[in-house]
This record gives sequence, structure tokens and C-alpha cells, in this order.
Amino acid sequence: MAVNNAYISKLLSDYADMLELEGANRYKIRAYRNASYSIASLPRSISEMVELGEDLTQLPGIGKELSQKLVEIAGAGRLHQFEEIKERFPEGLLEILKLRGIGFVKVRELYEKLGIKNLSELEEAAREGRVSQIRGFDVKTERMIIEEIEAMDLKKGAKPRIKISTAESIVMPLIDHLKKSKGVKSVEIAGSFRRGRETVGDIDILVVHDGDSDVMDRFAGYEDVEQVLEKGDTLSSAVLRLGLQVDLRAVPEISSGSALHHFTGSKEHNVAMRQLAIRKGLKISEYGIFRGDERIGGENEEDVFSLLDLQFIPPELRENTGEIEAAQKGKLPKLISLEDIKGDLHMHSKASDGRATIEEMALAARERGYEYIAITDHSRRLRIARGLTPKRLEEQLEQIDLLNERLEGIRVLKSIEVDILEDGTLDLPDSILSRLDLVVCAVHHKFNLSKAKQTDRIISAIDNPYFTILAHPTGRLIDHREPYELDMERLMKAARECGCVMELNMQPDRLDLNEIHCRMAKELGVMVALSTDAHITSELNLMRLGIKQARRGWLEADDVINTMTLEDLMKLINAKKR
Ligand SMILES: [Zn+2]
Ligand SMILES: [Zn+2]
Repeated sequence: MAVNNAYISKLLSDYADMLELEGANRYKIRAYRNASYSIASLPRSISEMVELGEDLTQLPGIGKELSQKLVEIAGAGRLHQFEEIKERFPEGLLEILKLRGIGFVKVRELYEKLGIKNLSELEEAAREGRVSQIRGFDVKTERMIIEEIEAMDLKKGAKPRIKISTAESIVMPLIDHLKKSKGVKSVEIAGSFRRGRETVGDIDILVVHDGDSDVMDRFAGYEDVEQVLEKGDTLSSAVLRLGLQVDLRAVPEISSGSALHHFTGSKEHNVAMRQLAIRKGLKISEYGIFRGDERIGGENEEDVFSLLDLQFIPPELRENTGEIEAAQKGKLPKLISLEDIKGDLHMHSKASDGRATIEEMALAARERGYEYIAITDHSRRLRIARGLTPKRLEEQLEQIDLLNERLEGIRVLKSIEVDILEDGTLDLPDSILSRLDLVVCAVHHKFNLSKAKQTDRIISAIDNPYFTILAHPTGRLIDHREPYELDMERLMKAARECGCVMELNMQPDRLDLNEIHCRMAKELGVMVALSTDAHITSELNLMRLGIKQARRGWLEADDVINTMTLEDLMKLINAKKR
């Protein structure tokens, strides 16, 4: 087997990495690295030199020991020491080293403390919040790890879809940048981002300016732009970080409303709208609304709807799933908004895997104008998140009593995120659950049961008199873990019978329930809780983006329990307890 120099160079460099992981002698490590460099740029083939029996020690950086290793590699295509060390340190650790900011010490920690052997195990651990638990790591590093791995995956795939929260963090600074351009009157994001989809493929931005603007230049010159695909007076396209494509269109003021409607979509909604226009003897397009050759509207988006005798359809509903028919009858839902929210019923404190104290969470919630929060730390089965035993929970209850005596303007509800065990019982005894204000229940293990078994498991848990809310009902993690098998309709009907509530969990990679299930809950008469599952005070802000999912699910304030006053909420919850 003739191996080329690039292969040998790579093998030596990988071996040096392994030696470094093992904490080997620095000089030895450096010798391998030097050899790797020098062979990479060597004009002659090592394999050929070995075949010809030439003396390799003439080469720069190659001593006697190394020359023997090279002979072995050239002959066998492998190095036995490297094979041996791989038995102690899995080869997958080398891919982790490629992540920015993760050096040898960190990789070894991850391996020794969490048994992480490769990138995909690291990704899983980071998403479960286990990485930030170990020394030398924090939540920021953990988030960075996820982002870096996602970026790697994106480069492999063709057309990336990016989570809306990530897209927002990339796009909002760009919008601010564009707004500072000369002569700009308005900058609006359209497309699936405006419709609030959970992931977006690209971003459409519309700009109105006074005819003498540098907005296209500022766009092309923006610091996050990795590649300009197209640059013109009315349309420019560029690829930003993480492969996110942005199309920027300059539109005339007179048709800016029609353009906003057109580029917001969806395609299905637009087709249905155009057909409706034709039936009314009109024509709508991105340029305006016309009767024959006469322009009758298009400067405001409202025109598009009012001229077709429709209620204004909020962007989140524009999927042609009944919104046009409802708008014709004046029966669109009055969608929930952030102002309706009076509390947040799922969040963690330092007692389990959260980052803030209960008081810090309470004060942050009060700042947001909330009346109440529920503290829902994990229960004992989730050891990795330092789940609470009955005894620790009891201590927390006393702590909350004392806190409530002191705090004004916010009430801390006693709760727990209790694991639903495989047999459908809960991880803590009723004797302690009965002392809580509400109980949030969740599946955190045994995801791969059959559909019937998984559904039965949760339904028998719902039967517990203290069960209040089912957290992240399908367990999916966007782009990472499929939902577990579940008969959602059967589950929701059981929830309705028992007066149980379904959660829409607003963690960016969960957004679980999805929009279809939100709508199903509404139609079946099951109440929904909109919860951030915050692990740190800043995550209470997830409500803002997450509520778009609720809107996409046609939810109104009346469908959601955390729009209620504390008094009504407690009435509803206590009515369920038997
Ligand atoms: Zn959970
Ligand atoms: Zn949680």
C-alpha cells in the first residue's frame, strides 16, 4: 500500500494531538508536529524513499526514532502506537478539537467527566445542558459549541434552514445597519421570518427609499456578509454567517404594501389570494391592486385585504389553511399577543440545572410585568440535572414561602418538573405533589417506546390528580431529535377529560407543541400553557419569539392559561385536583 505524504502528515499530526490529550512529553509531541509539517511540504514521496531504502534521517526534522515510524507507516499504512492510543482515547475526540475555543484540556474533561467520545455525543450533551455543568465550561461555551456544530452541519448540507431565534440574532443587527443608510424611509423583513416559522431558509428584506440611497452599498459591505451573490439598484443578494441567504429589494413607496404582502407569502396563501381577486374582477401582484389598468391600492398592506373584502390576516396565519375563508366571514381569531401574558409556568432555579436563584427569577419576571411564576426544578430521576428529592423539594417549599412573604408584586408558585416514569407513574409521591400549587410533568427518557405504549404511558400519568401541565409534549428537538411516537389526538382527548393542560415550550430548539398541535388543542378544547422553560433570567424573553408559534397555531388569549389572573388560574388548577 503506497501512502502519500499528505496522509502521513495527517497521521502524524493526529498522533501528536492524541499524545497531547494523553499529556505526553512536550518534546515528543513537538517532534511529531514538526515532522508532520515538514513532510507536508516535502518535494519527494516518503513511500518511494522507503522503497528505495534511502536514509530518512537526512530529511529535516526526522531523527532515528521518527524514521523508523515512517518506515512502518509507509509499509503498513498505520502506526501501531497510534492504534494503541486510540484504545485509550477514541478517535472521535479529534473532531471535537476542531471546534473553536475547545482545546486539549477541555476535550479531556468532556471525555473523562461525561464520557463524550465524538461530536454527536457532544452536541447531545450540550443541548441537554450537561456540558455547562462541568468545571471550566459555562452556558456561553455550551451555546457556542452548539452553534459551531450546527455551522459544520450546515456546510455539509445543501440549503440550510436556520432556527428562527438564530436567524433573528443574525438579521436584527443587519436591519439596524440598513436603517442607518442615506434616504431610507422603511426597512421591513418579509418571508417566512415574518410569518414566524420555526425555521427559515432565507430572509427577504424590503426597503423603501427616496431614490438617492446608499443602502445597496451598505448591504454589500456589511461585516457579516460572506459572499455577495448579486448587487443591483433594486435587488441585491448575499450569504451571511451560517449560510443564511438574504435578499434585499428596493420597492417603490406606491407599491410597498403590495410588495410586503407578496414577499411575506406563503406561496399557497398568495395563490389563493390572487384567485379570489380574479373572482372579484381585480388583479393583485407585488406591484399593486388593479381594476383593469387602474391602480386602486398597494401603498399599504391593509389595502390588499380590504379591497378583497377581507379582515386583515396576520402574517402568522398566511398559509392557506382556512385563514382566507375565516377572514371573509369576519371570523379570524383574535390572536394572542405578548401583552396578554401574565406569568410563566415553567422555569428552573439553581436548585436543579438553572443559573439563577428563585428570587432572581421572580424579580426578572416582575420586571416584565408578570403577576406570577412557577418554579419547576427537575425531579430526582434526572440526576444529571441535580433533580430534587422529596426532602430537597420540601426545603424549597419553605424557601418559597419565606420569599413570598417578602416579595411584592409577584407571586412564586410552588411546582416541579416531575419525570413521567416508564410505567406512567410520576417520579415523586403524591404526598409531596399534593403540597404544590401545580405540577408540570415531562418525559425525559425512554423515547423509543411504541406509539401505543408511549401514549398509554402519558395518559396514565395524566390520570394522577396532581398532574397539571404536560411539558414539551412530543420531546422533539428541531433538527436534532424527532418527536417520539405519540397518538396526539388520543392524548389530547384524555387531557381534556382530566382537565390537563398542554405546554408550548418556547426553548428555541423545542417549540413543542408545534403549530398544528396548538390548533388541534384549540379545536379539541384543551388549554395550552405558553412557557419559556427558562434556565436563566434572560431566557424569560423567549416568550417574545415563542408566542409567534402560538399565533401560528391560531391561539387566542382565552385558550392559554397563563393569560389568566392568579385567582382564576388557581381556580382552574384546583378544580382539576380530586
Ligand atoms: Zn424538560
Ligand atoms: Zn424544564
